[in-house]
Amino acid sequence: MAESRYDVAVIGAGPGGYAAAFQAADLGLRTALIDEDSDLGGTCLLRGCIPSKALLHATRLLTDAEEAAVWGIHFGKPRVDLEAFRDRVSAIIGKLTKGVRTLAGSRKVEVIQARAWFKDATTLQLSGANTPSELSFGHAIIATGSTPMIPDSLRLRDPRVMDSTGALRLPDIPPRLLVVGGGYIGLELGTVYQALGSEVTVVEALPRVLNNVDADLLRPLYQRLLRQFKAITLNTTVAKLDAQEDGLVATLTASQKTSTETFDRVLVAVGRRPSTNQLGLEHTAITLTPRGFIQVDRQMRTTEPTIFAIGDVVGEPMLAHKATHEGLVAARVIAGKQTAFDAAAIPAVVFTDPEIAWCGLTEDAARVSGQAVKVVRFPWAASGRATTLGRTEGVTKLILDPESGRVLGMGLCGIGAGELIAEGVLAVEMGAVAEDLATSIHPHPTVSETVMEAAESFYGSPTHLFIPKRS
Ligand code: FAD
Ligand code: NAD
Repeated sequence: MAESRYDVAVIGAGPGGYAAAFQAADLGLRTALIDEDSDLGGTCLLRGCIPSKALLHATRLLTDAEEAAVWGIHFGKPRVDLEAFRDRVSAIIGKLTKGVRTLAGSRKVEVIQARAWFKDATTLQLSGANTPSELSFGHAIIATGSTPMIPDSLRLRDPRVMDSTGALRLPDIPPRLLVVGGGYIGLELGTVYQALGSEVTVVEALPRVLNNVDADLLRPLYQRLLRQFKAITLNTTVAKLDAQEDGLVATLTASQKTSTETFDRVLVAVGRRPSTNQLGLEHTAITLTPRGFIQVDRQMRTTEPTIFAIGDVVGEPMLAHKATHEGLVAARVIAGKQTAFDAAAIPAVVFTDPEIAWCGLTEDAARVSGQAVKVVRFPWAASGRATTLGRTEGVTKLILDPESGRVLGMGLCGIGAGELIAEGVLAVEMGAVAEDLATSIHPHPTVSETVMEAAESFYGSPTHLFIPKRS
């Protein structure tokens, strides 16, 4: 092991931490990247974004094959070899985590496998095989991410109760799956298990699933999920779970009513909590927000001058691309660059089928804040491309400044929405107006034309919709 003094020590090798370490090294700083896991990539690569999207891709093949019947194409009943399924996901993760390690090596980032905690504001203690017990740093970046939250009432020592990590392992295809929480994970992994053959029941505490999503964007997905899932039960919580030999008995509570139902497995997906425990923060001047996140400013500085923090551990949205962007900002600030986290639009994508994606201002947020906006929509029923795909249920909308037409936000529901939202991010970040989108030629036939046509609506005349003029 080389001399244990680094310009930058990054704790956590997720999409925030490894991006920060690479950037610091590229800017000439001697950098250590510390993670207790033997593989690099953090939650996102090892037990989050990548395995869940791999599974969603594979199960989409099943639903596509089923839907091919409308074209007169009939496949036999699919046979799913779960072991091959899992092997394929492991191979994808293996390839990507190896890639991250190679990139770290090329940049001369020192990768240290150890658990780290602060001894003081310039020293880390490490516990790991073949690592020094201490390391000193000029600056540290905390990128320790988050872990699944499981309410005490649902915390059974029973392998049939799973968090997202357990569910991604696909232990089997339970005939009856209860998903607690109708958020990102509940709906994405619920979709996977349903396509594989489980009867899925989602129980959500709030009056609607994906509570942050505008109602019109949610509708097409919700209608489809209502057909696919056994039930989506709103305004309901799971008060307790009892482990019985023939299943897990869930007690569901809605207003004054209580009922019980038995399931073969339960996925608890009710949110994640920041990983700040046992980090030795009490040996530093770092402060936490009331919700337990590490408090940072726009340059990702904590209240301890030598220590920065980024990613899930500093707050919502807990998304990989937000973590990466913050990581780049922190490394650049440490290297003396004048920069700050100043994103006008952080995109969000729910990778269900159809997908939902949005960025910038949402219609709900505008309503709550009282900000005047003009909302224009283009229904995918009028899109040639959506029609060829047999998926016309989608919608594209723009949230515009009513005077200037400036694009303040964009939202989509439809297949491929996650790719399309990048145009909205660019529009918001570049201060584009509706006319910029309307007069940029979009390729035909693609669903990207719905963005152009929504923008045309601002001026009153989208080609493929007739909007009668007010007399
Ligand atoms: P993490 O990725 O959580 O990495 C933190 C790392 O720190 C871990 O490797 C951990 O081992 C290490 N660590 C923690 N404490 C210590 C310590 N004391 N010493 C040493 N190492 C330590 N986001 C998206 O944008 N798109 C998606 O599609 C998406 N899908 C998801 C699906 C699932 C099932 C889940 C659970 C999450 C998903 N997310 C998705 C969220 C995304 O995974 C996180 O936002 C992202 O991983 C956060 O990155 P991070 O760098 O902050 O931390
Ligand atoms: P979430 O916050 O997205 O959803 C949790 C849901 O559980 C909420 O709707 C909440 O109202 C509900 N809930 C909370 N307590 C409940 C209870 N006792 N009973 C019933 N419902 C309850 O959280 P998640 O789905 O666990 O995902 C965690 C985070 O991971 C997400 O917020 C997101 O930041 C990230 N993630 C992102 C993606 C993506 O980008 N596609 C995918 C997966 C996860």
